[in-house]
Amino acid sequence: MTTRQDCVELDAVDPLGAVRERFSLPDGVIYLDGNSLGALPVAAARAVDEAVRRQWGEDLIASWNKHGWIGLPQRVGGRIAPLIGAGADEVVAADSVSVNLFKLAAAAVGARGGRRVVLTEGGDFPTDLYILQGLAGMMPEVELRVVEPGGIEAALDDRVAVVLLSHVHYRSGAVRDMAGLSTTIRAAGALSLWDLSHSAGVLDVDLNRAGADLAAGCGYKYLSGGPGAPAYLFVARRHQAALRNPLSGWMGHARPFDFVDDYAPAPGIDRWLCGTPPILSLTALDAALDAFSGLDMAVVRAKAGALGDLFIERVEARCAGKGLALASPRDATTRGGQVSFRHPQGWAVMQNLIARGVIGDFRSPDVIRFGFAPLYVRRVDVWDAVEVLGEVLDAESWRDPRYQTVATVT
Ligand SMILES: *Cc1c(COP(=O)(O)O)cnc(C)c1O
Repeated sequence: MTTRQDCVELDAVDPLGAVRERFSLPDGVIYLDGNSLGALPVAAARAVDEAVRRQWGEDLIASWNKHGWIGLPQRVGGRIAPLIGAGADEVVAADSVSVNLFKLAAAAVGARGGRRVVLTEGGDFPTDLYILQGLAGMMPEVELRVVEPGGIEAALDDRVAVVLLSHVHYRSGAVRDMAGLSTTIRAAGALSLWDLSHSAGVLDVDLNRAGADLAAGCGYKYLSGGPGAPAYLFVARRHQAALRNPLSGWMGHARPFDFVDDYAPAPGIDRWLCGTPPILSLTALDAALDAFSGLDMAVVRAKAGALGDLFIERVEARCAGKGLALASPRDATTRGGQVSFRHPQGWAVMQNLIARGVIGDFRSPDVIRFGFAPLYVRRVDVWDAVEVLGEVLDAESWRDPRYQTVATVT
């Protein structure tokens, strides 16, 4: 049985221990929601201040050249690339995950000859399904095929153009076999499209080793790029010439500043840009990525697994018989950076925890979710968080009416 003292001792020799200082964390809070909104990196606050006051404030429009604003989407993409096992020329930061999934799924359908089926699993992150529904609604020849979890292999046939899957499931934290599924999808003649929102920055993602074709992911979760940070997308080099961005905006043009009437896609990854990049947000994301410098993602992943294991062990010891049921894989090798438990009054329990300074989140209908961002969460935080959870459940303080009102954002 792990004691609090064991946690303190393990934290003292944690190879990622010093990385916590790269983040600005409020006192009195145990932040277990870095899987939803990553904590503020110290460097990001400084970089945004500089970009606002000096670049925008003093150098004005000259900054597009002088401070390299125009190349920022590619530079940020190039810095995300090593975190996801991609080449720097295969990733660009742009738009939101939703928009990027639209661009990539539409392009994949356009490039697979007569194949017109877009295949995905039900129960995944809503926007992924909503975007595919929108695509199918707009292009009547596209058929959206949604199967039960585990049903992808059986649903592959010669009409499937693209398969969209999350690498890590947002609710359970379950990790999919990216290499195995990418291989199966490719053998069936379709393209794989991976959503990395819950895996990049916490797992040792390796898109090219897995043989993945396409991917998109989130900048504001484990990457800590800030609220509404730009997302990114990946197109494997072998597909870059054939795939066309359906949102053929001027920033994806081969020569945007020629101002000609006809669209000509830029070669390579640049064609996946659409409109003018959000420089302040990209600046925050760029600086946030400094927090990953020099880190081995296998070490990051191992720590995420250890924190999750510790959390499960402690919850099952401290909170036994209190109505919690594990809703994540027990085996850390098949789990992302979060652990979820079901509780019939999950919303109220989480509100009570937040009021006590332990921040996780709630996912409908009954899941309380705890994210263990390995760059700034310590073992002692996990231990203390479970202690607070135990007190809340023992006293049933979550019954207080102030914890019952459901807010707009959960
Ligand atoms: C967070 C998340 C998104 C976010 O999409 P946005 O369009 O950037 O808001 C998409 N997919 C998954 C799986 C996510 O976890």
